[in-house]
Amino acid sequence: MVSFSVKPRPSVAKINQARPADHAAHGARGFMRIILENSAIHADEVLLVAWFFVIGAVIGSFLNVVAYRLPKRMSLIEPSSHCPGCKKRIRWRDNVPIISWFLLKGRCRDCGSAISVRYPLVEAITAGMFALLTVAEFTFRGINLPGREIYKNDGIILFAQNSLHQYGILLYHLLLLCTLFAAAIIEIDRQRAPWRLFVPALFVGIVAPLVWPHLRSMPAWALLPDFVSRIADVAGGLAAGGLLGYIGWRIGKTESPGGLSWGLLSAGVFLGWQAVCALALIMMLLTWMAMAFCKLKKNAKPWPAAVWLYAAALMLILAWSLLGDLTTSLVQ
Ligand SMILES: [Zn+2]
Repeated sequence: MVSFSVKPRPSVAKINQARPADHAAHGARGFMRIILENSAIHADEVLLVAWFFVIGAVIGSFLNVVAYRLPKRMSLIEPSSHCPGCKKRIRWRDNVPIISWFLLKGRCRDCGSAISVRYPLVEAITAGMFALLTVAEFTFRGINLPGREIYKNDGIILFAQNSLHQYGILLYHLLLLCTLFAAAIIEIDRQRAPWRLFVPALFVGIVAPLVWPHLRSMPAWALLPDFVSRIADVAGGLAAGGLLGYIGWRIGKTESPGGLSWGLLSAGVFLGWQAVCALALIMMLLTWMAMAFCKLKKNAKPWPAAVWLYAAALMLILAWSLLGDLTTSLVQ
């Protein structure tokens, strides 16, 4: 079990300071204890990242199901996974994320029809995303985040009050990214991501920070008192995300809003009005680069904007604090 207590990693200077006294008091055993205690923290963290990688692969497998079934209005639970070729049920041992596809050499065990490489790819990307975010937001204690408030513990700066906060922020960001990723996969198939896909994320995105404002790394306006600030965060995010989503819908000229519009609205709710504006800029830059690339390679069709929205959201969350520093230095 991983404890939820504040356990700051001691700085090297502190370990060095502690060494002579401990050495004197407990001899070689005291010195070993300090080494072991510190390496134990690392072993914990490596295990946690590996664990999140595995969870990510399983969630990726679920996202494959969501992306396939949701636009067809099929149930996400029933029937269980089956081969589209021979309709036979996939055995549990052939359904292990990433690994099974390689063991089966990309073919169905029963009829031998090809299984798209997209399935293990989606699982691997989700697993990688989970591991990467765990390293940034847990191992490095939210070094990527601007930090709503900064807590100091024995002179060590923490971006969340304790481990429970860190887990909360990590899961909060992963929920948004998984939803945006599912929308991207659906739209790569040239289908429109339905609004139903965004309902769980929008619900959590609006309600959770009302109870736990630390989930949002940036307040809508820093000078507001606590409770007003919680409402202002939601209102600001909804307004900015909604407006950008509406513009995206109008530019796209589609019948109903798709993954881009609902995605921008969700990003506004989860990350705040400042971040969603930056996100839209990064997304536009990526879309423009993709279009230029496709123009060079004739016949290539650029991926839909929802894909670039997902890529931009992942980039923004991973480099959020850097981006914040950059804007501050530009403004001043
Ligand atoms: Zn088959």
